[in-house]
Amino acid sequence: MPLHQVKHDHRNARIETAHGADDLERYIPKFHMPQKGLAPQAAYDLIHDELLLDGNSRQNLATFCTTWVDSEVRKLMDENIDKNMIDKDEYPQTAEIESRCVHILADLWNAPHAVGTAGCSTTGSSEAAMLGGLALKWNWRKRRAAAGKPTDRPNLICGPVQVCWHKFARYFDVELREIPLKPDAVCTTADQLAEFCDENTIGVVATLGVTFTCVYEPVEEFAKALDELQAKTGLDIPLHVDGASGGFVAPFLHQGVKWDFRLPRVKSINTSGHKYGLSPLGVGWIVWREATDLPEELVFNVDYLGGNMATFALNFSRPGGEIIAQYYNFLRLGRNGYTRIHQTCADTAAMLARELAEIAHIEMLYDGQGALPAVCYKLKAPQKCGFTMYDLSERVRMRGWQIASYPLPANRQETVVQRILVRHGVTGDMASLLVEDIRRAVKHLEKNPVHHSEAKGSAGHHGR
Ligand SMILES: *Cc1c(COP(=O)(O)O)cnc(C)c1O
Repeated sequence: MPLHQVKHDHRNARIETAHGADDLERYIPKFHMPQKGLAPQAAYDLIHDELLLDGNSRQNLATFCTTWVDSEVRKLMDENIDKNMIDKDEYPQTAEIESRCVHILADLWNAPHAVGTAGCSTTGSSEAAMLGGLALKWNWRKRRAAAGKPTDRPNLICGPVQVCWHKFARYFDVELREIPLKPDAVCTTADQLAEFCDENTIGVVATLGVTFTCVYEPVEEFAKALDELQAKTGLDIPLHVDGASGGFVAPFLHQGVKWDFRLPRVKSINTSGHKYGLSPLGVGWIVWREATDLPEELVFNVDYLGGNMATFALNFSRPGGEIIAQYYNFLRLGRNGYTRIHQTCADTAAMLARELAEIAHIEMLYDGQGALPAVCYKLKAPQKCGFTMYDLSERVRMRGWQIASYPLPANRQETVVQRILVRHGVTGDMASLLVEDIRRAVKHLEKNPVHHSEAKGSAGHHGR
């Protein structure tokens, strides 16, 4: 199926301009370039007005991504709009700032030699996951080849992962062994790992901030289980932590949780700068425990900066602004600032959990404490209450709130949950208004139950 394919329909092929300026054509074609251009202001107004139809991002409670930035970030983004981060020769200071960010993160994640280790920025956690997965695959293949063993059937073990790991597996020809959830579990448990691992396992991915339920997978217990597996079988299987969200939360809110390079088995970690890293959209990070954990064959050395600028990326040209904004956040907020912001979000999530739990139909699966500032919940008796989570999502959407409803992954697909992410800019005040709207929506649905035919059920809703 081609992406962005449009049905051919002449009635819909043009936009009527609304501003009535003399120099404006009345109709602008949608699917071919107009012969004559528009004045900048006219084009701006047209597009600005069309975009009013997009949802209001601050009310999008389904996203983990940044929806609030301060004016200094806008200024830095604007000032650096012309800088290509890949051009390290032309923009050595942007490259320097990227490198500082990598080492700040390595330090935040307790790498043994934070200043000397390897890492880079990416477009987000998805690209970072590809790089992390490739490093695991290369290292595994080298070990196997050295032992004279076949290298044609690599597999990767994980719990319920974000779609980027499915992409990694498909694009780079690795078998993904996704461990199904136990009946009441909200993430994989360590005792499930061993039976999925074998000599072809390139690594185990642990998620810090599971997409579906927002909890942390127990990375320390995963590491212990893999230690035991090694003692028993000799298999030495590395851990990669997908800390897309949690990588920027745990260091500030959960210092007692051991999930990072304090665990020798953790060889690489990715995170999204544009999630709880608080940077604008378009930046992620990956850091390896030690420089030697990144196979040198994957690295292209750029010697513009004296031979020490290693590049490892799927993209080439990319804006430098997001990286610079990340560094701004590090300096502007410091550890205290990140802690304060995320703690406020966690407190708001806890308030949401308390208030939502008072609604008779709702049962909390995750109450916002101990992992991401978020809540996840389900209906206590979905068969009996006269409405579904999808109906509730639709109802609160009337007030502009976007709340995702979706089934849990295997083997809990029968459970449909809702998830609310509390990020910087989702204030306690907004959360109180949201709770009122949810209460009102539930009351309405109680009085006006929604009929769902058996055949259709809730199919057609895919609220992810
Ligand atoms: C968001 C997310 C990703 C993908 O990250 P992007 O930065 O959107 O590419 C991967 N893994 C997890 C756990 C996530 O939450």
